Amino acid sequence: MPYWQDNIHKNETWEKIDSIPNEKLWKEHMLRKQKLIEFVKDNVSTRLRREHYPYEEINEITSKLDPNALTIGFARRFATYKRGTLLFKDLERITEILNNNKKPVQILIAGKAHPRDKEGQDLIKYIHEISLKPQFKGKIFLLENYNMGMSRLLISGVDVWLNTPRRPMEASGTSGEKASVNGVVNFSILDGWWAEAYNQKNGWAIGTNKEYENYDIQDNEDSQSIYNILENKIIPAYYEKDENGISEKWLELMKNSIKSTGGEYSTARMLVDYCNKLYMPLANLYNKYYTNLNNVGEFEELKREFYRNWNAIEIKEQNNMNNIAVDAGETIKVSCEVRLPNISPENIQVEVYYGKIRENGMVEKIAVIPMQIYEENEEERKYYYEAQIELTTGGEYGYTFRVMPKHEMLLDAENLNLVKWIEK
Ligand SMILES: *Cc1c(COP(=O)(O)O)cnc(C)c1O
Repeated sequence: MPYWQDNIHKNETWEKIDSIPNEKLWKEHMLRKQKLIEFVKDNVSTRLRREHYPYEEINEITSKLDPNALTIGFARRFATYKRGTLLFKDLERITEILNNNKKPVQILIAGKAHPRDKEGQDLIKYIHEISLKPQFKGKIFLLENYNMGMSRLLISGVDVWLNTPRRPMEASGTSGEKASVNGVVNFSILDGWWAEAYNQKNGWAIGTNKEYENYDIQDNEDSQSIYNILENKIIPAYYEKDENGISEKWLELMKNSIKSTGGEYSTARMLVDYCNKLYMPLANLYNKYYTNLNNVGEFEELKREFYRNWNAIEIKEQNNMNNIAVDAGETIKVSCEVRLPNISPENIQVEVYYGKIRENGMVEKIAVIPMQIYEENEEERKYYYEAQIELTTGGEYGYTFRVMPKHEMLLDAENLNLVKWIEK
């Protein structure tokens, strides 16, 4: 039997999660939650003692930490795009949600702002003040000095991982990836990694992927979405517990989280991709061509030719370039004329670049396919290219043409920074 840790990057490895008995997974999760709660007690007590809070009051606050309560984790660098205080946009609603005694919810917030980021520091100060309001005491816990050790406890010990970046600013959101593989269910804006990983069964999406012109409207809609989903989906799923204190629904979400992201979002998968798609092909190219100086010299000369002559390439449409509306399953044929005054057709690749046009003008489902020569006029250096595009879904499509450099010593056509688009 291969050791599972040698196959972290493969999805099959993670499908076996289904065979873990629910009681066992839940017990493991609760152990981590207990450990986290002990840590939170210490951290919060230390902070409040420094602020000269009386012992009785500190004790009153920390004794409310409840391992059986739905626990939401929210830990971030307090960069403003992360919208650290979005959760408190409507204080009445969040008060109501946190103070349902039958279905308690507690929130752990950890943060760190850059020493020179005054705005970020103010956000933390605001959360500190909020957490000491009577209705939030013992419900919202602020942890200072977010670091990797704390992050480890949080992303393995809470039930839900919240992330509220302002779309489309989140590059990735790696903390959510780390949480997910620990069976912590994500509840996030459809941005960064979550826009790719969310599959409707492994967590929840805040808001929609609509575009906003105005930050205020965006913040209002997103925060209302947070409250609605908490009330209608997350809290009911968590508290649908059987006599053994286990919610089948919740365990399914946990397992779906682990299964759907453990392989795909692992560092192992990233490294395997780097090796297979970049390092190995580059090493092979090197061994095959770059050890011979003549090859290198010729390729350098060709590159100089490319740069000298690239601008003289002319592309003309053969058919009408207007956008086209098609039914699903249709195939369309497109063609263009390319004039290559000083470059050989062997050293270029002509491509059709197309995509579906959405109502707001955005283009989605972008694809690029190579085109083939079907006729040439050597004297005038004119070459005619065509391609068939198979459209799997109907709707309005737009397409255009481009020419890229091509050579066996070039790992990727983009690497020379030469792309000639048709000029309309
Ligand atoms: C994972 C991690 C981050 C990055 O989190 P993002 O969600 O990508 O912003 C920052 N700080 C610590 C301590 C982490 O563990």
